[in-house]
Amino acid sequence: MAYVITRSCCNDAACVAVCPVNCIHPGPDEPGYARAEMLYIDPDTCIDCGACVDVCPVEAIVADFELDDERYADLNRAYYASPEHADYPSTRPKSSPEPLPEQHSPLRVAIVGSGPAGCYAAEALLNRKALDVDVHIFERLSQPWGLVRYGVAPDHQSTKAVAAQFNRTVTRDGATLHLDVEVGVDVTLDELLAGHHAVLYASGAADDRRLSVPGEDLPGSESATAFVGWYNGHPDHAGRDFDLTGDRAVVVGNGNVALDVARILTLPVDALADTDIAPHALSALAGSCIAEVVVLGRRGAEHAAFTTPELLALTETNGIDVVVDGPLPDPDDIADPITRFKVELLHEIAGRAATGAPKRIRLQFLSSPVEVLGSTRVTGLRVARNRLVTDEHGAVRAEATGNTTDIECGLVLRSIGYRATPLPGLPFDERTATLPNQRGRVHDPATGTPLPGVYVAGWLKRGPSGGVGTNKACAAETVAALLEDYAAGRLPEPRAVLR
Ligand code: NAP
Repeated sequence: MAYVITRSCCNDAACVAVCPVNCIHPGPDEPGYARAEMLYIDPDTCIDCGACVDVCPVEAIVADFELDDERYADLNRAYYASPEHADYPSTRPKSSPEPLPEQHSPLRVAIVGSGPAGCYAAEALLNRKALDVDVHIFERLSQPWGLVRYGVAPDHQSTKAVAAQFNRTVTRDGATLHLDVEVGVDVTLDELLAGHHAVLYASGAADDRRLSVPGEDLPGSESATAFVGWYNGHPDHAGRDFDLTGDRAVVVGNGNVALDVARILTLPVDALADTDIAPHALSALAGSCIAEVVVLGRRGAEHAAFTTPELLALTETNGIDVVVDGPLPDPDDIADPITRFKVELLHEIAGRAATGAPKRIRLQFLSSPVEVLGSTRVTGLRVARNRLVTDEHGAVRAEATGNTTDIECGLVLRSIGYRATPLPGLPFDERTATLPNQRGRVHDPATGTPLPGVYVAGWLKRGPSGGVGTNKACAAETVAALLEDYAAGRLPEPRAVLR
C-alpha cells in the first residue's frame, strides 16, 4: 500500500519534513512549491511508515485502501509522470539555522495579525532552539486565526482543524495574543517599534479586486469577499444582506473562492447545518431560490485557477449537478500532468448525464463580464465570448471576440482575487498590493534600503495566493531574515515595554 494526499492538503509541508524516504513533493525548497495546488506522495517510493499521517494538521493523508475516491491516488501518481518530478533523491538536504547573538534579554517581536502567516511566524520564532523570545501577536478582531476562521468555507472543517495547531502556538510560553487591538488605530507602528526589536506584519489582504465594468455597483452585484465574510460571521460583513430571491447567480472568476461561494449557494442546507456557518447565513440560504450558479472563467479550462482536488470534491458533492460548457482543450495537447488531469476531469464531467439534483453549478470558460445589467438592481450580466492570445512574454491572455450574450440573474459575485490595502506609515506597491520587501524585510522602494525592524509575511508579502500552509515557508523565510538581522546587531534595542 501507499499513502495518498487528498483534498484538504494545506501545503504546510510538515509531512515533507518527516518523510524518511523523501517521497513527498514539491517541498518548500523545490521549484513549483509556491504555486503547487497540493503536495503529492510518490506511490512507488512510499514505504507506508505513516509518519506523514501523524503530523498532517488537516487529516489530508489517507492509506490508498481507505480512499473514498480513488482518483486521488491517480492524482498523486500523475505528478510523478512529469520528467522534472521523476528523479528526487532519497534524502533531503539539511539546512542549518542562523547563528544567534549572546542574549542578555529576550528578543521581543510584535506580530500584526493572528491568521496563518502570523501564527506560523510565531511558531518559527518559538521553535528556534536556544532563542529567548517574547512574541506578542496583535489581532484587530475579537476572534483569532484570520482567514482560517473567516475565509475557509464552513463545509471544509478539516481545513479549519489547523486552528488547533495555531491555538497551541499562541498559548506557548513566550507567546501572548492580544485580541481587539488594531495596529494603526489603537497602537501605532512607532509605539510597537519602541517596545519591540521587530514588528512583523501578517495582516493579509482583506479587500477585493474590482471588475471595473458598468453596473458593478448596482444592488445585487457584490464581492465574494463580502459573501464569504457574511457566511462565516466576519464582523465586517455579518450585517450584509444578499438577495437570494432570483433563480440564478453568476460568480465571476475561476479560483477556489469562486468554487467555494458557488458550492455554498447550491449545497443542500442540511449539509451546512452541522458546520460553523453563521446562523444568519444558514437561515437566509434555507430560503434561497437560487437553483443555478454560473461560474465564469475568462480564459480556458486549462487556465482555471481552481485546484484539481477542489474540483474532484465538487463532483462528489450530493445534491449538486456540475455542468461544463465547452469547448474544452484536448488533454493530449497539455504537457503538465496535473493540468492534463484537471482537463480530463472536466471532459468527464462534460460527458456526464444530469442526475436531476435540485441545484446546478455551470462552469463556463472563455467568458468575461462586460456589463452588469439592471436599472435599480441586478437583472443580468452581459458576457463577452473570449479567444486566447499569447503575448510577447509568452503569457496567455483572454481577448474579446466581439460576441456577447446576456445571462439573466439576480446576484453577481465577483471572485477575482483579494487585495491588500496600504498601511499607515509604510510603503506600498500598488501594482502587487504588497509591502515592498526582500525575503520579508520591508524596504523603501525608491532606495531599496530596509526599514529597520519592519518585516512582512503572508499575502501582504507575496500577494493573495496559496493554501493555508503555504504561509508556513513564507513566514519561516521572513523569520530567518529577522534572526539574521538580530544576529548582525541590526535591530534597535526596544526603548519601552508596552502595557
Ligand atoms: P485566485 O486563485 O487568484 O483566482 C482568481 C481568479 O480570478 C482567476 O481565475 C483569474 O483569472 C480571475 N480574474 C482575475 N481578474 C479577473 C477579471 N478582471 N475578470 C475575470 N476574471 C478575473 O484567487 P482566489 O480564488 O481568491 O483564491 C486566493 C487563494 O486562496 C488561491 O491560492 C486559492 O487556491 C486559495 N484558496 C484555497 C481554497 C481551498 O479550499 N483549497 C479555498 C479558497 C481559496 P486569470 O487566471 O485569467 O487571471
